[in-house]
Amino acid sequence: MILSVLKEVEEHENRVALTPEVAAHLIKKDIEVWIESDTGLASSFLDKHYTDVGVNIASSRDELLSKTDILLAVQAPSVEDLSKLKKGAVLVCFIWGLQNPELVSTLQKLNISALGMDAVPRISRAQNMDALSSMSSIAGYKASLIAANELDKYFPMMMTAAGTIPPSKALILGAGVAGLQAIATCRKLGAVVEAFDVRPAVKEQVQSLGAKFIEVELSDEETETKGGYAKELTEEDKLKQRELIHQHAKKSDVIITTALIPGRPAPLLITKEMVRDMKPGSVIVDLAAENGGNCELTKAGTTQIVNEVKIVGPVNLPSQLANHASTLYAKNMLALLNLLLEEGTPNFNFEDEIILNTTITHNGEIISPLIKNN
Ligand code: NAD
Repeated sequence: MILSVLKEVEEHENRVALTPEVAAHLIKKDIEVWIESDTGLASSFLDKHYTDVGVNIASSRDELLSKTDILLAVQAPSVEDLSKLKKGAVLVCFIWGLQNPELVSTLQKLNISALGMDAVPRISRAQNMDALSSMSSIAGYKASLIAANELDKYFPMMMTAAGTIPPSKALILGAGVAGLQAIATCRKLGAVVEAFDVRPAVKEQVQSLGAKFIEVELSDEETETKGGYAKELTEEDKLKQRELIHQHAKKSDVIITTALIPGRPAPLLITKEMVRDMKPGSVIVDLAAENGGNCELTKAGTTQIVNEVKIVGPVNLPSQLANHASTLYAKNMLALLNLLLEEGTPNFNFEDEIILNTTITHNGEIISPLIKNN
């Protein structure tokens, strides 16, 4: 069985799907591992680190593709690359099938068995395969560092001979995986933190990290789906929520927004009017920038200053921490491969809910119930 990794080509993508540590595990299972030269360079893994554990370096991308049985990647490869794979080859990467129907139909036509790292179900047994959580946690951490860097104030309280500086106030909107990590990081940096989420279930988690949970009474009490994700609010509740956020935004030095609703555009939480009422020098870091933004003024991939408020719309934050992001992503992949491979060969056992939900295409068919029924 030949398992390969291509060099990522998308702009802003510094991660690599396979680290030397995970390659060593696969080689011990008698899998032959091949990479392109400099595949891990952008995440500080050198060819030498791979060859030291027994990985082979291919002389060309085409040579690698033509002999591959299992291809690992972060972003989905181009149609040109995919069309050079053998029929029946396995691809494991982020696919985002609902958002990329053309990619799904290409995978069907080329008879590629594709597993989406974004499609791993959020159940206890799959926790070690949950790349979304690994990456969201990195994004929440990095967003806090960006906020601290952009703010022209200290985060912690400072007692100096010249006087006492009060701590900065951070408001975190959305307390899922990224939001909780942002709360923890802002707290470690010494800020006073408040957080808000439509799911009341997160209140205790927010408080256990030393932050204050701000609440509003919503008319629709069902704010969460069975799967634990947020639902879109009613128009009446959206207004109530915006009023609450407006009051807290006026007092905040930093706002980090992380609110997402699966399959929907990111909810609008910060309007232009709220930005106008914020203190000069305040910073908004909008982690939902790539999904339309939680702030009305966010532009993905840019930092703007509006009414002396900085609005940062970062894209692909995990890639900015590429070494550790790759380390975690590769371990998530290894856990999934350990489930998929039986004596080194892929076994698509669709009675296993992890394999069923994660497999986007197999034998020219769409398998994922989420994509099939959409
Ligand atoms: P996400 O990225 O979809 O959303 C981020 C947060 O935004 C969520 O907490 C959501 O409630 C919140 N949000 C949505 N609309 C909002 C609004 N209008 N105002 C304020 N906040 C809003 O979520 P996620 O971080 O991927 O996690 C979603 C759920 O999955 C959580 O319950 C999490 O605990 C759970 N989860 C479970 C597992 C597991 O069991 N293996 C792993 C990871 C996450």
